[in-house]
Amino acid sequence: MTGDVNTSEIMDPKPKLRIVLCAPRGFCAGVVRAIDVVETALKLHGAPVYVRHEIVHNKYVVDSLKAKGVEFIEELNEAPPGPAPVIFSAHGVSKAVAEEAARRGLNIIDATCPLVTKVHREAQAHFKRGRHIVLVGHAGHPEVVGTMGQLPKGAVTLVSEVAEVERLDVAPGAPLAYVTQTTLSVDDTREVVAALTRRFPEIHVPPLGDICYATTNRQEAIRQVAAQVEAVVVVGAANSSNSQRLREVAERAGCRIALLVPDEHAIDWNIFQDVSSLAITAGASAPEILVERILDGFAERFEIAVETLTTTDEAMFFPLPRELREAAAE
Ligand code: SF4
Repeated sequence: MTGDVNTSEIMDPKPKLRIVLCAPRGFCAGVVRAIDVVETALKLHGAPVYVRHEIVHNKYVVDSLKAKGVEFIEELNEAPPGPAPVIFSAHGVSKAVAEEAARRGLNIIDATCPLVTKVHREAQAHFKRGRHIVLVGHAGHPEVVGTMGQLPKGAVTLVSEVAEVERLDVAPGAPLAYVTQTTLSVDDTREVVAALTRRFPEIHVPPLGDICYATTNRQEAIRQVAAQVEAVVVVGAANSSNSQRLREVAERAGCRIALLVPDEHAIDWNIFQDVSSLAITAGASAPEILVERILDGFAERFEIAVETLTTTDEAMFFPLPRELREAAAE
């Protein structure tokens, strides 16, 4: 028998996998603007352009910009005085950093997200009115360091959980206000805020809330989708606050697998062997190409059926800082 073997008869078919893409996911308006700031500065001034801290929390984005001539620095003394731009990241900086930059004669371009700047202004306005400020946020996050650094030491107290609200040492009747980090868990923050308003009924409340639209929308999308699937993959960096929160929302919604991965290389595909449905979302600093590569990885191993669940449409846009708009127009 010469018998050609028909391989399609002997190979196991790929298992079927339903994939739900959350929408909105990935880049927010603040991240798009911050990356645009760096790329426009590169076009206008040429390399090198210096960026203090990761422009956004994503290695792919940072590496792509490094390849174009961007130098990432942690301290201002790593940048030479002169015309080469030094860009502040989307997370914002303390007043002390901005003042040091001016002292050093650096050509600063500020890529702080306007929604972070809004929180800075709220905190400053409360301080001017003689209120002590409670900041709800995570210690050590660059945004929190920048927000606390808008005001003199002691003017802001950081809390991250209800127990810390109960322990707050505030004189009875002292005027109080709270602001929050922009990328917190909507659910956890509701509990902390409830504890604050219960303990301090007179506390001043941010009129529109400080958790940004992108954080809120991405959490709502994954909350709705997670209830329909067995597993969730969140694309984002481990140090990205809003990405971490997305993973937590999926876990709380009952997903037995809720992963936060920076890219396709970090995925152990074997854990999806018995999974028939999963959702993919991405943090506000994760580019869509990373989602596409993960989809390709699933397509190699599964017969995938991809659908998108859109929970809200986003049309937010932040223009570039004025100095770049004007220079680009010339
Ligand atoms: S996550 Fe929100 S606050 Fe942070 S850069 Fe994006 S829009 Fe701005």
